[in-house]
Amino acid sequence: GSIIGILGAGQLGRMTALAAARLGYRVHVFAPESMDSSCGQVVAYHTQAGWHDLRALARFADDVDVITLEWENVPTYAVDFLARHVGVHPGSNVLSVAQDRVAEKSFANKLGIGTAPFRAVRTLDELKQAVVEIGLPAILKSTRMGYDGKGQMRLNPGDDLSGAFDAIGSDEAILEGFVDFEREISVITARRADGTMLSYLPVENRHKSGILDTTIVPAGITPEIAAEAVRVAELLAAELHVVGLLAVEMFVTRDGRVLVNEMAPRPHNSGHWTIDFAETSQFEQLVRAICGLPLGAVGVTAPCVMTNLIGDDIDGWQAMLAEPGARLHLYGKGEARPGRKMGHVTRPA
Ligand code: ATP
Ligand code: MG
Ligand code: MG
Repeated sequence: GSIIGILGAGQLGRMTALAAARLGYRVHVFAPESMDSSCGQVVAYHTQAGWHDLRALARFADDVDVITLEWENVPTYAVDFLARHVGVHPGSNVLSVAQDRVAEKSFANKLGIGTAPFRAVRTLDELKQAVVEIGLPAILKSTRMGYDGKGQMRLNPGDDLSGAFDAIGSDEAILEGFVDFEREISVITARRADGTMLSYLPVENRHKSGILDTTIVPAGITPEIAAEAVRVAELLAAELHVVGLLAVEMFVTRDGRVLVNEMAPRPHNSGHWTIDFAETSQFEQLVRAICGLPLGAVGVTAPCVMTNLIGDDIDGWQAMLAEPGARLHLYGKGEARPGRKMGHVTRPA
């Protein structure tokens, strides 16, 4: 098809739209008003109606040839409705797993893939029981909707469990054993409908205050651990029948095991380096995968480091334009707020 529909209008959709445009596609974006509108600078909004607006969804579906998404929390009823009109990739089967931390970890465990130990927690009594079974320290997270470390808290011995349960403010929570990891890595796998897959090599992720700060390419891990991380990501992508991208966040433990933390069936912040330092960007790869085009080569053209630009220092960031080799990306978001991802810069290592 020649028109790609994107659900969600943040920077991931914007960068997907830029890649799609380069391959000659037009893009329509569907996003409820509450979402970030940074995509509006490269493509016209198709509609500003909410996910419950079936008429608007139907118009959108009729106008596009294929739909993808930049946000895994699109309600599955909306995706199922769209899928009656036009292909949506990845589909709601993938989203229903990726939207729910309990479903996500259970899915991995069923395939023999390790995760932190976890228990679903719906009541204070279940939290107390889970603490007995898993031990402390642990991390209590809302099962759904969290991002950038929001909706989660670390529990240490002696902490007030009742206060913590109230603070999470959800009757769908998960208690995860705290993983004393050596490092965090991620793998982004692209998969086509015919099952063809290609994965970028594992990269290393460092967080500050729960938000991704830096991605180091490639990760400083052994070839054996790298191969295991890619195997895990490709097994998950294949078993979920992903069409598009699957980004898998993992912990490498001090004894060399690879544990899955979470996954996102979309372009991922830890893949932004691919725009400037890979043979094919993750955004172009997504377009290729959903349009049935050949997947692009995933080689690294040079080791590099991607740093997120977070908060409100626009003037300082623009100075990076004068830095030799630095590749600056600003997302055109109106208002800079603390913790808000405003752009990123990738530099040769
Ligand atoms: P994202 O912005 O990546 O979607 P999120 O809000 O969904 O993040 P997680 O990725 O689950 O949250 O957690 C954020 C960070 O907190 C992780 O990258 C890791 O550094 C730390 N973390 C999360 N779970 C654990 C755990 N079980 N043990 C140790 N550290 C953890
Ligand atoms: Mg997450
Ligand atoms: Mg995460």
